[in-house]
Formats: sequence, C-alpha cells, structure tokens
Amino acid sequence: MTADCIFCRIIKKESEAEIVYEDEEILAFKDIYPAAPVHLLIVPRRHIPTLADLEAGDTMLMGRLISVANDLARAFNLDQSGYRLVINCGKEGGQLVYHLHLHLLGGKALSPAIAEGRGV
Ligand code: AMP
Ligand code: ZN
Repeated sequence: MTADCIFCRIIKKESEAEIVYEDEEILAFKDIYPAAPVHLLIVPRRHIPTLADLEAGDTMLMGRLISVANDLARAFNLDQSGYRLVINCGKEGGQLVYHLHLHLLGGKALSPAIAEGRGV
C-alpha cells in the first residue's frame, strides 16, 4: 500500500469506484474517463508500480489478471465482437497511475492505430 496511490485507496475502499469484480488478489473497476463504451481497469491488490517491476514469482498473478480480463470481456458481452487489453508502462509508455493495471476496452470498433503505424 502506498498512501498517495489512488488505486491503493480504491482497493482499501477509501476512494469511490464502480467495482465490477474482486477476489483475494485482484480488483476491477470502471475507468473514470472511459475511452470506449466498456473501459475497465484490472489491478492487482498488491502495489506493483509498473509492468517493469514484475518479478519471476508474479507470472501466475499476470496470468490471473488476463484471465479475469477475459471473464469480464464475456460478462460485458465483448467476447464475440472483440476487445483490447492495454498496459502502459512508464513515462514514455503513457502511464499516468503508477499501480500496475490492465485496460480492457471494447463496445465499439477500436482504431487499428498500431497496425497502421499511427500508434507510435
Ligand atoms: P494509465 O495511463 O495507463 O496509467 O491509465 C490510468 C487510467 O486510470 C486512466 O485511464 C484514468 O482515466 C484512470 N483513472 C484515474 N483515476 C481514476 C479513478 N479514481 N477511478 C477510476 N479510474 C481512474
Ligand atoms: Zn497502489
């Protein structure tokens, strides 16, 4: 827990969020500024600042984060239409909140920006 981390505060229920899933190691909630009709954040309860801070023992946790994202995609009816998982890492990766999180985006046709070379 980091006192000034907004996601730690949400996990501790000290800040409001629209929580859509939680278990002993993972929480998922709606992004406050949705970039798509469905925009969820899937976060580990443990404060891991960035993707680059993952350690060898976190492999199972990362697998579970992706598995929860897939379950939520089904729950939000995105599994047939398709969806996107995004992890921003560090300053130039566009990370704003330094508590590891997966973005689950869907509910509209997302721009294939990276494939077209506009995502870089
Ligand atoms: P990133 O750029 O990957 O660090 O994304 C951080 C995301 O967290 C952004 O999409 C924000 O809209 C979202 N966010 C920031 N504060 C909150 C909050 N209090 N509740 C829900 N989402 C938040
Ligand atoms: Zn945190």
